[in-house]
Amino acid sequence: MIKTRDSNLISLDYRAEAPRFARFPNGIIDAHSHINGDRAAAIYKQARDLYGVTLTYSMTQLIHAESVKRVLGDSIRFIAIPNFGGKDRAHEFGKGFIEAIDRWHELGARMVKFWSAPRGRDIGREAGDWKIVTLHNPMRRHQMDHAASKGMMFMVHVADPDTWFATKYSDASFYGTKLEQYEPLEILGDEYKQVPWILAHMGGWPEDLGFLDGLLTRHPNFYLDTSATKWMVRELSKHPSDAMLKFYTKWRGRILFGSDIVTSEAHIGGQYTGGPPTGESSTPEEAFDLYASRYWALRTQYETRYEGPSPIADPDLKMVEPQKYDEHASPPLRGHGFPAELLRVMYHDAAHQLLDRFYSR
Ligand SMILES: [Zn+2]
Repeated sequence: MIKTRDSNLISLDYRAEAPRFARFPNGIIDAHSHINGDRAAAIYKQARDLYGVTLTYSMTQLIHAESVKRVLGDSIRFIAIPNFGGKDRAHEFGKGFIEAIDRWHELGARMVKFWSAPRGRDIGREAGDWKIVTLHNPMRRHQMDHAASKGMMFMVHVADPDTWFATKYSDASFYGTKLEQYEPLEILGDEYKQVPWILAHMGGWPEDLGFLDGLLTRHPNFYLDTSATKWMVRELSKHPSDAMLKFYTKWRGRILFGSDIVTSEAHIGGQYTGGPPTGESSTPEEAFDLYASRYWALRTQYETRYEGPSPIADPDLKMVEPQKYDEHASPPLRGHGFPAELLRVMYHDAAHQLLDRFYSR
């Protein structure tokens, strides 16, 4: 179980830290989050405002859409997702998703998330068909046709960390290799090349910038988001700053800032309100640290020359090397010190140019 201090291992005052970061007059756009629960959303808003984020794209659950909208108004925009909580998986990831897309479109969503992580095969297997929650599901084309016909773009979660392929996905005969995750993605990416695709979490392969370079070269309709803070901090800190700068400069405009912050009423002692599981907290201050820590870590990585421990515990370290780490260990965080001009594009202009034309119609 992850405890609250795991969002603040080095005793930072995240409120006092926030003003030390540069101000970006156009604001920062978070292109990837999961905001659920109105009280949690209000705490998220405090953290977001302090760290300069002015517009949030969120994969909210349908039942929370209206309450979250009441808290964040026009500064939250939705990304359509299936009903993950539904009992009948074949329906929710099949025909039910088409109905959900229609409902989300009414709520202003102009992007559809096709969550296709390898662990989706476990969910599918339980429901009798491993393909249900993957890009191999033949229903995907119906959903993509439907979304594209409504003027919606795509987001996809295609792969998970190398650490997971080395451990929980080590049975490649069932999960496929990491590289194999990209086969259906590249086929569909070509079929729907008129549609922009955001590949979440640095396309699922922050460990290999060379692979991402090839992917972006082969598919001019593919974009990346920087979300999944623990994963990005761990892996992007391993790359030398000059390699990072070269990659982000070459692909400026195709890389969008995102956090993958998940908010839930459970973080303030309320009910679990869904979304991917994340660190646990039980008071508003703990929830604040949980949310603020993500913006602190990501901004520190991109903007500063910080060299030190990440403030966020990363259980993947123990998963790979149980003799060496416990679940509260955190990896080194390296600041890459990007120039302000490049940051402005990644934080704001890239998302503004790509997403506004979809969300304004
Ligand atoms: Zn996410």
